[in-house]
Amino acid sequence: MPLFSLIFIVMVFLAAATHFWLAFRQIKHVKQYREHTPEAFADKISLQDHQKAADYTIAKEKLGNIGLLFSTTLLFVWTLGGGLELADQFVRTFQLSPLFSGVIFILLIGFISAILDLPLGLYNTFILEEKFGFNRSTLKIWLMDLLKQSILGLLIGVPLIMVILWLMGSAGEYWWVYAWTVWMGFSFLMMWAYPAFIAPIFNKFTELDDESLKNRIEQLMTRCGFLSKGILVMDGSRRSSHGNAYFTGLGNNKQIVFFDNLLESLDEEEVEAVLAHELGHFKKKHILKRLITMTFITLIGFATLGWLMQQQWFYNGLGISTPSIYTALVLFSIASPVFTFFLSPISAMISRKHEFEADDFAAEQADANKLVEALVKLYKDNANTLTPDPLHSAYYDSHPPAPVRIAHLNSNRI
Ligand SMILES: [Zn+2]
Repeated sequence: MPLFSLIFIVMVFLAAATHFWLAFRQIKHVKQYREHTPEAFADKISLQDHQKAADYTIAKEKLGNIGLLFSTTLLFVWTLGGGLELADQFVRTFQLSPLFSGVIFILLIGFISAILDLPLGLYNTFILEEKFGFNRSTLKIWLMDLLKQSILGLLIGVPLIMVILWLMGSAGEYWWVYAWTVWMGFSFLMMWAYPAFIAPIFNKFTELDDESLKNRIEQLMTRCGFLSKGILVMDGSRRSSHGNAYFTGLGNNKQIVFFDNLLESLDEEEVEAVLAHELGHFKKKHILKRLITMTFITLIGFATLGWLMQQQWFYNGLGISTPSIYTALVLFSIASPVFTFFLSPISAMISRKHEFEADDFAAEQADANKLVEALVKLYKDNANTLTPDPLHSAYYDSHPPAPVRIAHLNSNRI
């Protein structure tokens, strides 16, 4: 067996073992604390809500385990099991140019993967989310979403793949620098275009019509020196009762978007505090830092691909007999997550640090008490557990656990 196959197998097992071990810890920890609401929350979150959060967390963790078992098996089937090799031989029978063979190969793999992912996606929405009362979607909406996503994916993805494959094949030794430039340009274009052209395909956006809330938000934004094109409300409740608020767009195209269900559950001051937190991410330059980090990581990714695609062992080690630019691209995109999985604690740690900083900013610009109240409501409404396993949380969580975050906010108060 090629050495790289062995390394790959070991890494896949290590990643899966880490995942299952953390999931096991999480389930055990949440079960252990299921019987009592943590003292600090006893007057705000009923035992019933606390137990719902515990059961929901455990159910999601179990589904995640099944998902991982499935995707790990599939990864082996595609690579060492000869799935990609078989698809490659099939595509080669058409004797097309490398560019078109590549596009067909990638579409074929993408199509099969999407079909195989359907059952778990359906289960998640219509059984798990449904059971806990979060699902508002219907099969019709779900199928329409799938159709729209597929059409968009083809319209946007195929030209992009063609450009990248063409550069890989024809732009010489430093193709990866050009491909990276194209990729980043494309990403920024999408960030700019998303709120205006793509998001409206899936949801309805309306101007916030609550004048009093609007005034409050505008005052907050002026206070923070923040420019935005508008405050919008999105009909998130069409699909799910999970609430959220976010910013989209770049530069002058920035917009604040509230899910309608968030506005239903929070009062004015709480919305202001949540928004102040989001503004904190801008003011503390988190968004900018994340973009710069992504830009570098993407460059490293393309450089690595540029090197790997010249190595015979890379193909042979992952079950491909005849090297080609498109198999290199597909092998890289399905095998690299196995290696980058071990970096997730770093990005989670940075993200949690940013959350604290944004909370500090919110405490300066709005009422910290109100942010605490809003967080408690959001945790309750979304059935997020208050008692995650510390190690599981340290490895994955982009946000600190609620008790930690709230203790931090309280410690800031004078
Ligand atoms: Zn945040």
